Parts: sequence; structure tokens; C-alpha cells
Amino acid sequence: MTNNPWEQALAELEKAASHTKVSKALLERLKTPDRVIEVTVPVVMDDGRTQVFHGYRVQHNNMRGPYKGGLRYHPKVNMDEVKALSFWMTMKNAIVGVPFGGGKGGITVDPKTLSEGELERLTRAFTRELTPYIGPELDIPAPDVNTNAKIMAWMRNEYARATGKDAPAVVTGKPIEKGGSEGRTEATGLGGFYVLAEIMKQTGRRKSGASVAIQGFGNVGKYLANYLKDAGFRIVALSDSKGGMYVKSGIPDLKAVAECKERSGKLAGCYCVGSVCDLSNMEALGGRDITSLETLTLPVDIAVPAALENAITKENAADVQAGIVLEMANGPTTREADEILKKKHTLVIPDVLANSGGVAVSYYEWYQNMHGETWKKDVVFKKLKRKMEGAARTVHEASKEYDVSLRDAAYIVALMRLAEA
Ligand code: NAD
Repeated sequence: MTNNPWEQALAELEKAASHTKVSKALLERLKTPDRVIEVTVPVVMDDGRTQVFHGYRVQHNNMRGPYKGGLRYHPKVNMDEVKALSFWMTMKNAIVGVPFGGGKGGITVDPKTLSEGELERLTRAFTRELTPYIGPELDIPAPDVNTNAKIMAWMRNEYARATGKDAPAVVTGKPIEKGGSEGRTEATGLGGFYVLAEIMKQTGRRKSGASVAIQGFGNVGKYLANYLKDAGFRIVALSDSKGGMYVKSGIPDLKAVAECKERSGKLAGCYCVGSVCDLSNMEALGGRDITSLETLTLPVDIAVPAALENAITKENAADVQAGIVLEMANGPTTREADEILKKKHTLVIPDVLANSGGVAVSYYEWYQNMHGETWKKDVVFKKLKRKMEGAARTVHEASKEYDVSLRDAAYIVALMRLAEA
């Protein structure tokens, strides 16, 4: 079996469908995206050359509302990945109960090699290509890996230029002053925290002092780490694409680590004591360097893949020691790895539930834009907490009712809601 995410998504769908009565027509519809868009995006680079990039948008399904999902800028972006990610958005939006369908997009590019001007021209050119297909009631992009609020602001602006109509709700994840929602930046990490806490409550696990290793220290991993630490969890390992650190007693100062990564461009070596962050503190903290892969096989209570797909595969699944895997990345566990984890009785909290806090607050942003409202952060967080805990309880109950994993249960919930639609 390959680690092709689209094949994996289809297999997950078939498996969940086998547990419940879903019409053949619905199943067939979900196996094929509604629309697949592939564009070339020529950009004049700073040195005067024109470089051609490849961009994608897949509109998977809109039975429950407009297509909704992020845009990823990464060298490995390809059509099958985008198709899988769009399918997971259809499922996720149904599970968390927001009135959206599923979409996803991206550009095959390493944005770290671009200047700010090149990044802006690329984003604006891509937006012009997508303009006929997106809109507040049609398809609403958002940030994903290597895209952020600034990129969303360029998109809103370029869409307005191209259509002659300013429509703030055409994208979510915008800066607050450009129509973004309070709490959107924190939403995915915070939502994951609420889901984890609720599932631990439902399954009678103790939270205080539980050790956590997180792979990926971007938007999602960083906020999750902070919320967990504030709630009494022990963050013992962190890594990014260049490696990371393991401190068994707990990494003392996450803020200092984040600042160190910001300064140096990597987590590795960010052993912080007071304002000093370097290797000289490694021994004092009782820490050691780790590779990003090792993060997920450390002796911890909770392992969190929060970077990219295929982080847990058949090669390393047997080595996972954590009792809980909280999937904050999309598609981090291959199917074969999932089976191995199941045999080991590892509780896997699936991506479509764990990371749906981002799209929940994206929905709140879209709603505020459409109704000319602005909500305070505490209002957003209160709504998010209720939504995530409710979704976690629904999925947990379905897993008991059907005697299946949380992943299968999440899909069953989604399929039933899609069937209703
Ligand atoms: P980001 O670009 O802010 O951060 C990604 C992080 O992963 C970075 O720290 C990067 O160094 C690290 N990384 C990349 N390759 C790695 C590797 N091989 N090993 C270890 N670390 C690696 O992205 P993000 O927004 O935090 O997204 C992370 C994941 O969460 C993605 O799978 C994304 O699809 C998913 N997700 C994000 C959101 C959101 O709101 N941002 C919502 C739902 C799901």
C-alpha cells in the first residue's frame, strides 16, 4: 500500500461506510470531488525572470454549504494531496457542525525561498486565477501550512480588485483589522486542547502532569503547547522540520523557546533558562536533541503530530509509546499505521475531530463578516469550547454505540449528517 493521501482518504471512507447504511449514490459522490481546478501562475521574480508555479483548488463537496478549506504553500503540494485534504474538510465540517462543504488548495512552492514581494505577487496572481470559483457563498479559502493572515489579506484585496466588489467573507483567517475574527489564530490549537480534555474526561484519564511530545511548532503546535502547559500538562518534547529537543522534566519556558525559534529560524538548540537560550543549558535542563521523527516515539503519555501527513507510518507505528495520539496535522497517520496503533490499544483522536477548531472559528469569522458583527475573544472562545466539547462527546458516543475507533466513529457521524443533507 502506498502513502498516497487520496487513496488513504478513500479507504477511510469505505471503512466507515461499511459500519453504517449509506446510499451508494452518496458514497460515489464523496469518492469524486465536485470540481478540480489546476492553474499555472506566472510570476515576475525580483531578478526580472518569469517563473511559472502550479496551483490547485479542489472543491470536494458542497451538500452542507459553500466549499471551505485552507491553502497550503509547500514544495510537496500535489493534486492527490489537495484532493485528500479537501475530502477531510468535507468530513470535518460535518463533524464539527458548521454549514460548510469541503475544499482545499495550494501552490507547489517553498515560500521560504521567495522575497516578500514575490510572495505577494504569487498570491495575487493565484487569487486572480481562482476568482471565478471563490466567493463568500461559493468557496472560502483560509490559511494552512506556510500561509497566514497577511496572505489572506492580499487575497481579500485582490478579489475585490478583480470583481469590483469588496467581500470580506471571501477568505477567513484575515488580520483582525482586515475583517478577521478574534481568536482565529489560536483556534486550532485551542480546539485541539478542548477535544483532548473532553476525550480524556470521557475515557477516565488523568490530565494533570500527563507528558506530551509535539511534532511541529507552527501555528497549531505552538498554541496547543501553551494551552496544555497552562492546564497542567508537561510538555517534554518539541520539534520542527529541523529537529528539536526532549526535556524529560518538562520544557520550562515555552515563550522563550518560541522567541528563540523566531530569532534563529529553528527549535533545535533552544534550551532556554531565563533569557539565555542555547546548548549550554542542555545539561542543566537534563535535555537532549531529537530528530523530528523521534518526537512521536518518545516515552510520553500523549504524542501529537502537528506538522504534515505520513508522520506515523508502518515503519514507526510499533515504536509509538504514547497511550494517546492527538492528530493535529491533517492525515498524519497512514492506514497501516492506524491498524498497528489499534492493535496496541493506542487511543487515536483523529484529525477530522482534533483540528476542527480552526474551521469552527473560521465559520465564526465568516458569520461576523456576513452579518456586520464583531465578537470579543471571550465570546469566540466560549462558543468554540461548547462546539469542540460537543463534537468530542458525539464522536465518543458513536464509537461506543458502533464499537469502533474514534476515527471510524467520526466518519460515521459525518456520513449521517451528509446523508441528512
Ligand atoms: P505552520 O506552517 O504554521 O507550521 C508547520 C510546522 O511544522 C512548522 O513548525 C514546521 O517547521 C513543522 N514541520 C514541517 N515539516 C516537519 C517535519 N518533517 N517534522 C517536524 N516538523 C515539521 O502550519 P500549521 O498551520 O501549524 O499546520 C500544521 C498542521 O495542522 C498541518 O497539517 C495543517 O494542515 C494542520 N491544520 C492547520 C490548521 C490551521 O488553522 N492552521 C487547521 C487545521 C489543520
